[in-house]
Amino acid sequence: MSKSYAIIDFDDTLVDTFSFKEDLVSAVKKNDLYKGLIKDVFNKAPHYLNANKFVFSYTSFFKMIRAGNQYKNERLDNLEKDFNQLLKSFDRYTFPGSIDFLKKLIQEVKAEIIIFSYGESAFQKAKIKHSRLIEKVIQDDSNKIQVVISPIDKEKNILKLVQGKASKTGFFINDKIKENQAIKKVIDKKGLDLKVITKIPYFKEEAQKIKGIYQFRDFLEILLFIKDQLNLTIK
Ligand SMILES: [Mg+2]
Repeated sequence: MSKSYAIIDFDDTLVDTFSFKEDLVSAVKKNDLYKGLIKDVFNKAPHYLNANKFVFSYTSFFKMIRAGNQYKNERLDNLEKDFNQLLKSFDRYTFPGSIDFLKKLIQEVKAEIIIFSYGESAFQKAKIKHSRLIEKVIQDDSNKIQVVISPIDKEKNILKLVQGKASKTGFFINDKIKENQAIKKVIDKKGLDLKVITKIPYFKEEAQKIKGIYQFRDFLEILLFIKDQLNLTIK
């Protein structure tokens, strides 16, 4: 039985969702839909497509712009094709090191892994599936990686996970400092223990140091930290 577990955020922690979003926007431009569409989407539905807070609903997106009916259907069809193409090749957005990190967590640390994904369920499921991350890490059909998708109430859902594993040492790895602070607060309030780790996004020069939250640049450093915390021999 494993003595430890790691809850790992999906977007921008294991995979480069930032670049994926940029490619979606490029597809909009390519299909000559730039002028109206980006503006429309940004203004009318900032919760669907917004540069800072991106909870993108694939289904709602096309439903919304088709309902607007101001674009030629042919262009929208082409855009949808391009979006599908990008989604289907989502494995190209996997960060170098992600697969190796997950493999080592399973083989060397013997940790339970929970991939935590925040966003619209169908879209998140599609991204995880097309990332092919799980099948690349686990060759047999053993259930070593659990996937939890949380469209809302992120903190509550993480708290639930942590409460269910109170006898084990837990690690939480995520790229967003603000989210990590909120999670740390909820965990501390309940008197639980969870080592919250920020994986600093590659495009950020530096991150603000927060008390009680660990910060690392890459998975190699995170793996060493986890092994050290568990008193495992470092290979
Ligand atoms: Mg993230």
